[in-house]
Formats: sequence, C-alpha cells, structure tokens
Amino acid sequence: MRRRHLAIPVALAALSISSVLAAAEGSRSASPIAMVIHGGAGTIEREDLSTELEASYRDKLKEALLVGHGILKQGGTSLDAVEATIRLLENSPLFNAGKGAVFTAAGKNELDASIMEGHTLRAGAVAGVTTLKNPISAARAVMEKTRHVLLAGEGADRFAAQIGLEQVPSDYFFTERRWQALEKRRAEERHKESEADKTMGTVGAVALDRKGNLAAGTSTGGMTFKKHGRVGDSPVVGAGTYANAKCGVSGTGHGEFFIRYAVAHDICARVEYLGLSIQEAARQIVLEDLVEAGGSGGVIALGADGTPALVFNTSGMYRGFVDDSGKTHVGIYQEPIYKQ
Ligand code: ASP
Repeated sequence: MRRRHLAIPVALAALSISSVLAAAEGSRSASPIAMVIHGGAGTIEREDLSTELEASYRDKLKEALLVGHGILKQGGTSLDAVEATIRLLENSPLFNAGKGAVFTAAGKNELDASIMEGHTLRAGAVAGVTTLKNPISAARAVMEKTRHVLLAGEGADRFAAQIGLEQVPSDYFFTERRWQALEKRRAEERHKESEADKTMGTVGAVALDRKGNLAAGTSTGGMTFKKHGRVGDSPVVGAGTYANAKCGVSGTGHGEFFIRYAVAHDICARVEYLGLSIQEAARQIVLEDLVEAGGSGGVIALGADGTPALVFNTSGMYRGFVDDSGKTHVGIYQEPIYKQ
C-alpha cells in the first residue's frame, strides 16, 4: 500500500509505549479510546454568554463526549462515534450545524459536512445541502454507498433522500439567533463596516477506537452572509477534516484560509513526515501560519496514542475531550481544560 512508507523511527516516536507493545504483540486490542470535539471557534467572551447559555453549551458538549465515549467503550468504531456525536450536535440549535445553521446572504441555509476514516483513507462529504436533517450521515453514506467522495447541492440532497435519510422543510433550520446575526450583518454591509463573523459554531469530532483506528468529521452551516453556492473547508478533505493512521483533525474557522493552507492535512503531514507531536503540529499551523495569514479559527486533533490537541487563535472555542476512563474535559474560553 502506498501509505506504508513511514520511516520506522518517526513512526515509533509518535507512538506511546503501550501502543508500540500492543503492535509488537500483533494485537491492537490494547489501544486506548479517546475523543475530542469542537463546537466552533470565534470571538466568544465571557460577557457575551449568560450563565444559562454557558451552562447549556457545557452540558451539550459533555453529553456529546459521553455519547461518543459510550460507543467506543462498547467496542464501536471511531467512525460510529464521530457520526453519532456530530448528529447530536447537529440536532442542537446551539451550534452552527444542522438545526442551528447560519443563513446565507439570501436568507437560506446551505450545509456542508465531511467524514474520514484514518486507517483506510476512505472519505465522504456533502456540500450545499438544504433539506437534510443530519448532513454528517449523508457524508458517511457518500463514503460507504457511492464511488465518490463529495456530492454537492441538489444532487447531494436527492441522493440522501433516495437512501432514506431524514428530510426536513427549510424552516426547520430557522433559529432567531442566527436570523438576528444575518440581519446584523446585512446592516453592517449597508454601512460598509463589514466585519468577520464574531462567533462561528461549526461542529467536529475526532475519535480513536479500541482497534487503534482514527476517524474525523466536521459539519457546518458555513459562514453568515456567505454567497449562495459558497463552499467552505468543512466538506473539503484535507482542509477542514482529515484522518490517517497517525492523526485525525477537524477544523473550524475562516474556511477560505483552511482550504488554502490545507490545514487538516498539513497537521497530519507534520506528524507523519517531521515526527512532530500532534500538539506541536497543531500549534505551528494554528498559532503561527494561520495567525500570520490572518486566518482565524482552531482545530481539534488526536494522535494514534490518543493524545489530544485543542488549539485556537480566537478568544474562544467550544471544545471538549474525553479520555479512556470516561473523564470529560470541557472548555469555551482561553482556559486550561486538562493537563498537557
Ligand atoms: N469553517 C466553516 C466555514 O468556513 C465555518 C466555521 O468553522 O465556523 O464554512
């Protein structure tokens, strides 16, 4: 297989002792399980969130982590854990994905999602879907039921309907909060004070299962006031989502930068080719390259030993991590959530 070209010392350096021993014994059953999630990065200040809203975010992130962990604990695949976790976040109005998707300039909702399985490099994605309750499941279906990687627009909606995925009327995606964000942005445009989206809210998950397999997924409504037909990084494999045998990444932020800098793939490439830790690779891209370029956002990532990285260059990122024991760590602002 073409991907088996790793230099052995680099591969060994990236693995924990326990997983090296497990691999040496020819058994991967000892792999720890882990999951990281995000619910979007952006300008999130403490004073912007009421106590109740902040508690709702923290509770939903924890609930999502426990859903994923429950699947992994029972021996479920990382792909199942990623899909189920993202579906839960898509069904919440809190996040800019599924139910809570932001509006385009024309006042519509166009949703993007992708999913990728690390050990097979299989991937699936949908872009610009308008009638699907859970775009992440459509992304998975593209991966598993077609010969393609990315379906867009009407064709993607139709494919999902044909295979029986749940359809919703367009007003399902109406939330007052996102509509107000559009109105505010329209007013800013009229006064020519166009500014970037303050809060985003895309969702993503990366999981590691007992077999040591990684998977990553991302789902979004895109960016408020985007042009009809605009596709961001979230459904673009290598930009907003990437997973291979060593690394899984999901990003959130100003998608055009994530596409141009091939953010998710570049993090995995630095782990694979330079032997960097997942945390150092994520830090270099998000806190150096993207900052220099002016691209705001963040990423969540997992290494093959379950080491998490949660890095963002904005004032906040809804995020969380659950370790093998089931202990959850959740954060919103610039706050340490676990010991690195
Ligand atoms: N990355 C998403 C996009 O550009 C938006 C976000 O993550 O908030 O479509």
